[in-house]
Amino acid sequence: MAERPRPPFWRITGMESRDTDDHRRNIPPGSAVLLTTELNDPTKTEQTMEFPITLLNKEQLTHDVVRLTLERPKGYEFTAGQAIDFKLDLPEVKDKVSPFTFTGLRTDDHLELTIKCYPDHHGMTEQIAKLQTGDEVIISEPFDTVELKGPGVFIAGGTGMTPFIAILRQKQVDGALAGNSLFFFNKKKEDVFMEDEFRGWLGKDFHSVLSKEEAPGHLHGMVSADLLKAHIKDFHQPFYTCGPEGFVNAVKGALTSLGASEEMIDVQF
Ligand SMILES: Cc1cc2nc3c(=O)[nH]c(=O)nc-3n(C[C@H](O)[C@H](O)[C@H](O)COP(=O)(O)OP(=O)(O)OC[C@H]3O[C@@H](n4cnc5c(N)ncnc54)[C@H](O)[C@@H]3O)c2cc1C
Repeated sequence: MAERPRPPFWRITGMESRDTDDHRRNIPPGSAVLLTTELNDPTKTEQTMEFPITLLNKEQLTHDVVRLTLERPKGYEFTAGQAIDFKLDLPEVKDKVSPFTFTGLRTDDHLELTIKCYPDHHGMTEQIAKLQTGDEVIISEPFDTVELKGPGVFIAGGTGMTPFIAILRQKQVDGALAGNSLFFFNKKKEDVFMEDEFRGWLGKDFHSVLSKEEAPGHLHGMVSADLLKAHIKDFHQPFYTCGPEGFVNAVKGALTSLGASEEMIDVQF
């Protein structure tokens, strides 16, 4: 598959071009490794850090989505909606770097990732599915994905939900959920993760939409102007959408046809 383009608000760390030298293998968990990447201007450098950390727990949320609980390095800070570049020191994924989004709270004493695994891609997530408690993973410093512009409508496709989990979880803790709503699109009921939490946070403002089956308590259909119009009254509020490229484009097309600003925030996975 061709490399997917990164939206402009992603910070390009240049990690893709780094090697995985043996000297990094024996670093104690939690230590930071400082890397220097040359930018276009040879007089300037960008310094980025890598953090080898321990997997504390792995929980299966659905048939293919896992929640990883990870050691939090001392002094490691992030905000809701930020992502990291993720590596494993395994020959199967040598030199591979995959972005994932924190789904825990910035005040938690551990880090949390929620990851959909694709064993048939024979890539990073096939190896993630095999990880066990005590294994080491390597994460970068956090970088921004979603820039918030106030309360609005969050529209997620599959694991495109992940940046919104942290954002909505933080709003819930801050008592700031009023005025937000969430549409979570999946193929089938078995694909829907954290449904109880989302219903608990948002009540009637949470909409689960299934495209490939009908089920009580879930809407049915693909993303369309008709479906969104039936459940959203105000198209002059912030919209945030995240998911696969085709999904995000369908959401943006439907919303702009209903009068929403083309300036809406989107992240493509
Ligand atoms: C900023 C950002 C944040 C993200 N956060 C999360 C998150 O929190 N949780 C999450 O689950 N995902 C997240 N993603 C998506 C995630 O990075 C990818 O889904 C994941 O890396 C894909 O893993 P993989 O095992 O397919 O393979 P890779 O190791 O990336 O690829 C393995 C092989 O599979 C092929 N392949 C890749 N995609 C497809 C496809 N769609 N169909 C067919 N073949 C394919 C590739 O060509 C490659 O040869 C995020 C993406 C971005 C950009």
